[in-house]
Amino acid sequence: MEVSVLVWRRSYVEYLVAVFVGLGLSQLATLITTVYLHRVLSHRSIRLHPALTMAMRFGTWMLTSISPREWVAVHRKHHNFSDVEGDPHSPHIEGYWQIMIGNVYYYRREAMVDDTLQKYASDLPFDRLDKALLRRGTLGFSLTGVALVVLFGVFGPGWGIGPGLVALTTLAVVYLLLNAAINGAGHTFGYKSFENDATNLKLLALVTFGEGLHNNHHARPASAKLAAFKDEFDPAWPVIRLLEKLHLAEVLTKVDEGWDDHRRRIPRTTVSPMGNKTVQD
Ligand SMILES: [Zn+2]
Ligand SMILES: [Zn+2]
Repeated sequence: MEVSVLVWRRSYVEYLVAVFVGLGLSQLATLITTVYLHRVLSHRSIRLHPALTMAMRFGTWMLTSISPREWVAVHRKHHNFSDVEGDPHSPHIEGYWQIMIGNVYYYRREAMVDDTLQKYASDLPFDRLDKALLRRGTLGFSLTGVALVVLFGVFGPGWGIGPGLVALTTLAVVYLLLNAAINGAGHTFGYKSFENDATNLKLLALVTFGEGLHNNHHARPASAKLAAFKDEFDPAWPVIRLLEKLHLAEVLTKVDEGWDDHRRRIPRTTVSPMGNKTVQD
């Protein structure tokens, strides 16, 4: 009896650890997405050391299975047609819950269009490494699953298959939900400091390495820092500054100047489906 309780407790702890490992990996995937796919590739606001670029490419492949060329093309098209006809994933066009639940479907639908890739990501052709390996996104994500199963098997008290798959599933679900929240909630609720259809959500920014400050981002897509004012925090920014100090990254655009006198600056306004309200001059 005592032994079975002990075994149950051990596996309970192991599954709890698996959830935390999945959460940690989803944060790492989100950091790679905002720094590499978004700020480095899509908007060219940061340049990375070649060694870090390679690490980011493998990180993208193994944690998200995303093709950078596809992600960049879909994202640039989103900026071009933000919340009007042609936007690949607008909650104003498709519906709020459609994006919150089906974001990945809308992403895939656009990523499969050759014209979109050619028009919006012609500067990112597939190289030899992409063709030989990194275009096989499912393989990268599967390898992460195998690594998790092996690690839980070696360091855990029992077989690693259950906890390994729990960690992998947590990574996938949380990563997809966070991305859906940026595209769905980040164009629906929150506050605005600039006249565009996106919104800022400070809490979302804390768990998406700054991406929740989406109204700021649509105002100045080229800014490498997404926080515009003193009461806002972009958690990726200290990471980028650290990478700069280590000579692994270089910020190419202005980040602090110009927010206050931006031509689309408006009094801070809360936004909800019930209506908008000015909260600060
Ligand atoms: Zn947006
Ligand atoms: Zn962007």
